[in-house]
Amino acid sequence: MLNIKHLNKLKSQMNHQTLIAVTKYVGDDEIEALIQEGITDFGENRVNVFQEKYQKYSNTEITWHFIGHLQSKKVKKMINDIACLHALDRMSLAKEVEKRRIDPLPCFIEVNIANDPNKYGLKKEKVFEFYNKIKDYDKIDIVGFMGMAEHTDDEVIIRKNFQVLVDLKAEFDELYSKSHKLSMGMSNDYNIAIEMGATHLRIGSYLYEEE
Ligand SMILES: *Cc1c(COP(=O)(O)O)cnc(C)c1O
Repeated sequence: MLNIKHLNKLKSQMNHQTLIAVTKYVGDDEIEALIQEGITDFGENRVNVFQEKYQKYSNTEITWHFIGHLQSKKVKKMINDIACLHALDRMSLAKEVEKRRIDPLPCFIEVNIANDPNKYGLKKEKVFEFYNKIKDYDKIDIVGFMGMAEHTDDEVIIRKNFQVLVDLKAEFDELYSKSHKLSMGMSNDYNIAIEMGATHLRIGSYLYEEE
């Protein structure tokens, strides 16, 4: 069930972020309640589930964000149905998007900010090379950087993780004279993400939690 109190609290804490409601844990009741509450941006991390929901809500104005790891072989069947990709993290994926997408797709480069070998995302040292290789791709519009902080209650660690994205933004804003966006902040750490300059929050469980 949608927790309206949590949704309202979240909205009151936001300043100008885009709230992406992550619906991977929930179904139609929650999606419909979120639409009722004026939410327009939704996020999914699995291709099959995304496609089901995309089709079901094709008569609505939902803006779909694909936020999870994307296998290259699945790009063809979904890439033209999304408005934004948050997990661009390797050349093979970039090439496949370039080949299959019809019009330029806003993409976030995913960075492994927790520096955890078990997590997806580019190492921060590799971002410069990757960015420069894909920056002239016609179908990829690099809008910014995405990352997931370590799942911990230790604020110092979360801040250190998000700082990697903040620093990348500063560096690339200067290099390319444009303002990059930051997709950071989940249920556990959205407060810190807002404070540190997130432009896109990806929130799931907090929206559905019971009191
Ligand atoms: C599930 C997921 C989220 C939302 O996580 P919550 O902790 O439930 O808010 C955000 N981003 C990605 C990439 C996810 O897979």
